[in-house]
Amino acid sequence: MRIITVDDSSTMRRIIKNTLKKIGYGDDILEAENGREALDILSTKDVDIIITDWNMPIMDGLTFVKRIRSDSKYDDTPIIMVTTEAAKEDIIAALQSGVNNYVVKPFTPDVLKDKIETVLGLKD
Ligand SMILES: [Mg+2]
Repeated sequence: MRIITVDDSSTMRRIIKNTLKKIGYGDDILEAENGREALDILSTKDVDIIITDWNMPIMDGLTFVKRIRSDSKYDDTPIIMVTTEAAKEDIIAALQSGVNNYVVKPFTPDVLKDKIETVLGLKD
């Protein structure tokens, strides 16, 4: 299972990486600082799950998600957005852009595990 975490905060990327390790999904994690860098990495590497921040310089998460969802290659690739944007209209905008699940920072390991298992179809 390869997961890419996209966040402009190196601290947040480290938190997500450590959380993924803790919940058993930490064996193969790629990192990008923004959507542009993530697209560059994804042009050469396949991933099973994309975990992305919303607010990032150069290319923000919503733009990144729309780019991913415009490419049929990623039709089956789940996207989880991890963000401080917790307003209902933000969550709706993210889901409409093609995000499969949504995690509001700060989050617990159990919440991330639950969202991952949901997008992988491991839960009801
Ligand atoms: Mg950010």
